[in-house]
Parts: sequence; structure tokens; C-alpha cells
Amino acid sequence: MKPAAFSYHRPTSLDEALTQLAQSDNAKVIAGGQSLGPMLNMRLAAPAALVDLNDLTELAYIRDAGDMLEIGGLTRHYQVEESELVRNCCPLLAQAARTIGHYAIRQRGTLGGSLAHADPAAQLALIAVTLDAQIDIVSVRGQRTVPARDFFVAVMATALEPDEVIRSVQFPKAALQEGEAFRLFNRRHGDFAIVAVAATVALREGRAASLRLGLSGIGPVPVAYDALASQFAGRIPDRAWIDRLARAVRDAIAPEDDARISAVYRKELTETLVQRAVARALERAQERTA
Ligand SMILES: Cc1cc2nc3c(=O)[nH]c(=O)nc-3n(C[C@H](O)[C@H](O)[C@H](O)COP(=O)(O)OP(=O)(O)OC[C@H]3O[C@@H](n4cnc5c(N)ncnc54)[C@H](O)[C@@H]3O)c2cc1C
Repeated sequence: MKPAAFSYHRPTSLDEALTQLAQSDNAKVIAGGQSLGPMLNMRLAAPAALVDLNDLTELAYIRDAGDMLEIGGLTRHYQVEESELVRNCCPLLAQAARTIGHYAIRQRGTLGGSLAHADPAAQLALIAVTLDAQIDIVSVRGQRTVPARDFFVAVMATALEPDEVIRSVQFPKAALQEGEAFRLFNRRHGDFAIVAVAATVALREGRAASLRLGLSGIGPVPVAYDALASQFAGRIPDRAWIDRLARAVRDAIAPEDDARISAVYRKELTETLVQRAVARALERAQERTA
């Protein structure tokens, strides 16, 4: 199939893009086109106007912003994956970006597009929720900041209004004595994950001073398990500790059966991936404190 007719706009500034969005009743922005392109072709989306962000180089950047790493909405997945700054300041994000789809998709797909599309299994959404990132959103009506944990509302539904654009995302930088790991399971290389786990562990005097844990694939939106993780903080993180943590996560989640995958399978997969992610995060933390 081919897309339904639409008018096409290619603004050269963010202000111009926001005005064009505000002037149309049914406009959509297009960034990498990796998700919207197929949706247009299948007529799952039929906007009256497309506002193409690809000339807005002001939205494509990665910047050190003190305690945070700030990434523009038009930054491509491969730029996040390859950036020295991201690898040094937010290695979990770089690791997750490397696993998105295939090479060609990472060349075109953008951070803003991935978050706005809100696929329940999207890597960048999971990292944003796990790390408690802040999403900077603009429209002709002004600016607002939405925590990633409030941004994802349901499967492919977010807090974005139709005239709004994701300008940038602020990710907290990793602590010095922190290790991290991202683990996913999919059937074929490049497919969306069935379950994915993001974990960080910070060590102090041999104990797990703090840890973060996020999961996707077990519900409509990615979820951070801060309360559960904090119950395991302060202990000596040995193998038994990892196994107890993974078992507690398994008991805490309530995935549903779907046409392909049973809830029991997702629970077992989650337990295994949590074990592996936390063990690897711990190893990295130990290397960095040695
Ligand atoms: C074969 C295939 C495999 C893939 N595998 C994965 C995978 O494993 N993991 C994964 O995470 N993703 C995967 N993707 C999706 C890919 O990461 C897309 O890049 C991403 O979902 C959308 O980014 P985009 O820039 O292409 O957005 P587009 O397709 O251009 O837009 C998607 C949506 O976001 C909106 N939008 C875009 N930019 C903004 C912005 N700055 N502000 C507000 N709204 C905006 C658009 O209006 C549209 O609704 C895959 C895609 C394909 C085709």
C-alpha cells in the first residue's frame, strides 16, 4: 500500500516546525521515519500534514550538562551508540542503543522518534525510565519537562500533545563506582526484545550501596523497580544475593499470556535476564572500584 495524501513541510528551524504543527489540525512530525514510514504505508497513520524535522541540526547533539547528559531529540541511535561522552557518562545508554534493530535502522532512527513512538519493547524508553531521565518538550504554547516515568502512558501512547516536539532528553550520569548492564532476549538478531532488563549497581565498602532495575516486555510500558531494588541495597552482593533479587523480581511481575508467549515463560526469562544483568553490572562495579 501507499500512504494517503498529505502535505509535506520541511522547516529549517524549530520555531518554524512548531508553528507548522500548531497550524494544522492533523499534523505529525517525521524524524528517522523508521516507525512512521511503515505506519503511513499501511495507513495505520494518515496525517493531513507531515512536518519533517531532518533539517533541524539544532536538535541533533550530545552535550555534557553537569550532573546530566543532554541529548537532542534528533540524535540518531548510532550517534548515541558511538559517542565517547555517552560511553563515559552513561554507559548503560550506549550499550542499549547498540542493540536496537539493525545497522540501517540505527543510522536513521532518532531518540525523540523512539520515545514518541513508545513501543513497549523499545530500548531507549527502558533506559529513560530506569535512569529516571527528564524529557524536554516544546510547542508554540511553551516548554515543559516530563519525567520519563510519567511520559509513557500505554502501548504506543505518551503524554505528548499533537502540537508538541521532544527537544531533548536529560539522562543522569553514572556514579563513579557504579557498574551497569543491559540484557535482552529476542528470537532473531534485530527483532524487538521479548524481555529486556537494565541494571546498575553502585558499590561502597564492598556492599551494594544502591541499585537500579528496569524491565520491558512484561507490560504495556517499561517499569523501574526502585522500591524492590532498595530492599536489596546495603548487603554484600554475592551469588545468593543475585539469585534472591532475581526471584523477587520474578514474583513481583504479572505479565499476561499473549498469542505467542506465555506469562510463565516471560517470568522465567525475566528471572534469568535479571540474574545475568545484575551479575555483569556487579562485575563492572568491582572492576571500577579495584
Ligand atoms: C525492522 C525494524 C526493527 C526495529 N527494531 C527496533 C528495536 O529492536 N528496538 C527499538 O527500540 N526500535 C526498533 N525499531 C524502531 C526504530 O528504533 C525507530 O527508529 C524508532 O522507533 C522511531 O524513531 P524515528 O526517528 O524513526 O521516528 P519516526 O518513525 O520518524 O516517528 C515515529 C513517531 O515519533 C514521532 N516523532 C518523531 N520525532 C519526534 C520528536 N522529536 N518529537 C515528537 N514526536 C516525534 C512521529 O510523529 C511518529 O509518531 C525498529 C524499526 C524497524 C523498521
